[in-house]
Amino acid sequence: MGGKTPANIEYQVMRALRSVVRTVDFKQFHKIHVPPPTKSSFVKREHPEKKGFRMLTQSQHKILNEIDGSSVRNWKDWKWQLRHCIKDLDTFETLLDIRLPETLRRQFKLIVEKFPMSITPYYLSLIDTEDLENDPVFKQSFPAINELDVQSTDMSDPLHEDRDSPVPGLTHRYPDRVLLLISNTCAMYCRHCTRKRRVGDRDTIPSREQIMKGIEYIRDTPQVRDVLLSGGDPFLLSTDYLDWILIELKKIEHVEVIRIGTRTPAVLPYRITDELVEMLKKHHPLWINTHFNHPRELTASSRAALRKLADAGIPLGNQSVLLSGVNDCPRIMRSLVHKLVANRVRPYYLYQCDLSEGLSHFRTPVGKGIEILESLIGHTSGFCVPTYVIDAPAGGGKIPVMPNYLISWSTNKVVLRNYEGVITTYKEPDSYEPTFCDRNCKDCNLQLSLEDAGEFRAVGIEKLLADYDDTIALVPRNNDRHRRRG
Ligand SMILES: *Cc1c(COP(=O)(O)O)cnc(C)c1O
Repeated sequence: MGGKTPANIEYQVMRALRSVVRTVDFKQFHKIHVPPPTKSSFVKREHPEKKGFRMLTQSQHKILNEIDGSSVRNWKDWKWQLRHCIKDLDTFETLLDIRLPETLRRQFKLIVEKFPMSITPYYLSLIDTEDLENDPVFKQSFPAINELDVQSTDMSDPLHEDRDSPVPGLTHRYPDRVLLLISNTCAMYCRHCTRKRRVGDRDTIPSREQIMKGIEYIRDTPQVRDVLLSGGDPFLLSTDYLDWILIELKKIEHVEVIRIGTRTPAVLPYRITDELVEMLKKHHPLWINTHFNHPRELTASSRAALRKLADAGIPLGNQSVLLSGVNDCPRIMRSLVHKLVANRVRPYYLYQCDLSEGLSHFRTPVGKGIEILESLIGHTSGFCVPTYVIDAPAGGGKIPVMPNYLISWSTNKVVLRNYEGVITTYKEPDSYEPTFCDRNCKDCNLQLSLEDAGEFRAVGIEKLLADYDDTIALVPRNNDRHRRRG
């Protein structure tokens, strides 16, 4: 610490402000609501859907009236939603009919200078103003002063996405798949965004030339069989533009599957139009991963969006982020995963919150994630359980973490425990003739059809297990012990 660099002064100011914010009694601030909360500002469950009768909630009607008094049709028009994203405090307060305490209002300006705000009217309508301080929708969308509390272990690009990038906007980390960022925009700026460094930077759409560079890299790299499109949010691109990208990728013979990561079903469900779905259907096999963090986000509108995608034959997955004060609770997570599978969405990953700048207040200990998995595995359907992963800093990739089930092991028995605490044994076979593998597949009895089998070279721990590779240890380069060896 010390020194009077601007960053440092800013930091001191933040520290001071933070101690102020801690003293704010949220309960108190309801007393200065203007006007006090009424029934109409109270958001409750949406009406069950009836065929042909798609109502808005009371809160949605109110916000719609406040914005421009237009029709329900406009509310459900994603472009209308985007045009009316809430980016400033006055609009936020007016639409929700609340007034925040002065300290919060002052802090707001400081935070959004660094990390701007954008909330769709739809997502805003899910905020429960009766219990703002604990509201998961509010916490995910409204700036908190803690975002300016950058810790010494925080990094602007903890996953080294920019370093493992052979061409701008493309990250090639794993052997057979790449991440291609095709949009710099999002409908809602998640406060917990791992790419916070870029948020609001330039709400631009990368040009065809720029995207073509990524596509050319993929074309020139035959081992890439899976392409993940992300951003920003790919679904903020026009349907035609996205269609063009998918067509170009489809032309590449070695690309077997395309995935799209989007949060629109949760924050802008009206983006999932019939037109979009018709376009997507042309590009199978196409998978979509979405991002729901709390059961409250699965509204009638969201469910309708998910139904359209699933009906189009698109396998749906969900990637949640474990967030302190939002979903760090086994019961909340269980409710979330149950709602997801009931809507044909398979929980895919639960992420430990990354070490990006400004996220420290969202982080939980890893133990919280393990506790949540402990409460899911065995207790509920296997396909409800996401893989809990820590995305390793410095580009190590996703590392799965879970409770231990293998308790002990001898030469012919393993001891295991189940979710109930039963300790049990599994007797291993007395005679097992392993197939010795020297990679001479022609002499092997296993019926591997060589034409279909990809070339295969063992990597990492897998290498240590292989018969045909005599590597006996993986030793990090550059450690002191190694340098001493000269
Ligand atoms: C998450 C990620 C992938 C995909 O990983 P899967 O485990 O296959 O879902 C690919 N590239 C990068 C850079 C990623 O962060």
